[in-house]
Amino acid sequence: MTATDTLAATPIALVGLGKIAIDQHHPSILKSGAFRLAATVSRNAGLEGIPAHKTLAALIAAQPEVTAVALCTPPQVRHAMACEALEAGLDVMLEKPPGATIAEVEALIDLAAARGRVLFATWHSRFAAGVPAAKAWLAGRQILRGTITWREDVRRWHPGQRWIWQAGGLGVFDPGINALSILTEILPAPLRLTSAELEFPENQETPIAARLSYLTGAAPIAADFDFRQEGPQSWAMEFETDDGVLSLADGGATVSAGGQNLSQGEALGSEYDGLYARFARLIATRTSEVDLSPLKHVADAFMLGRRLTTDPFIE
Ligand code: NAP
Repeated sequence: MTATDTLAATPIALVGLGKIAIDQHHPSILKSGAFRLAATVSRNAGLEGIPAHKTLAALIAAQPEVTAVALCTPPQVRHAMACEALEAGLDVMLEKPPGATIAEVEALIDLAAARGRVLFATWHSRFAAGVPAAKAWLAGRQILRGTITWREDVRRWHPGQRWIWQAGGLGVFDPGINALSILTEILPAPLRLTSAELEFPENQETPIAARLSYLTGAAPIAADFDFRQEGPQSWAMEFETDDGVLSLADGGATVSAGGQNLSQGEALGSEYDGLYARFARLIATRTSEVDLSPLKHVADAFMLGRRLTTDPFIE
């Protein structure tokens, strides 16, 4: 980053200093020439050398020079914070999922438009290294069938995150929606759910596993989401086509097709650098970007899915 970049950089505040803010947002902001971390908002934490506030209201009152926020809080509290930020004239980046319901995000789209603010609903997995190559490869081929295996250990990746087990926290759809964000990006034709089974631990409000059957055109797509995966973790997809097989692994970072390597990267790799570059472009062009399709597919699973009760989950 050069001194000129710093002068021109958009002053941004990080809101909610949890796992994703620390692991991904902060490093990507530091690397970005387009943003300067001007403040944090957190009930419990701070970052050395950065002005810290306990609430958004305190940030807005104390630092009017801040023009953008990245909301890294759980989905259940995101709508109220996004409204407060947009009303105060800030451009807003939303972590995924963009909200706890579809209607509340639609309301944010209207509010951002009415206030002339930029609203960016991020889907970080769409910025995985292999996603554009997978999309391009599938574009000219006929898909015959697909399988999605998104199985991870909740104790390893979401330790102590009570919100994930509370209504609106999505349970296994918190990672599963990443798979749906990739699917809706790379498939040439729309996806629709035909049946689903959701397993709810008897002591929790959100599912620990889901088995989902979709159609895209006439091709069946089977998805297996599970939070109980010990040993090797799996964020993978495979599509059989009329012209070979496409395999995607590591959450979209690694892709091979027809026996050739199209992309080799690390899970989460440079996804957040890509998100901040996109947010900078949206701010420069005063354009919002909100695609609700992954969230709609989760809502459909909750609507159509058969509910099964399973063993209690105790962290
Ligand atoms: P987290 O570690 O639990 O952090 C969330 C932070 O939000 C908390 O540390 C807390 O920060 C703040 N917060 C504000 N109001 C809250 C409330 N009522 N209840 C709980 N926390 C509240 O969660 P995370 O993993 O960073 O996930 C946050 C969002 O990022 C989720 O939507 C998730 O889907 C998304 N995401 C997570 C990952 C991942 O690998 N973990 C990856 C991509 C996206 P303060 O104490 O600072 O207020």
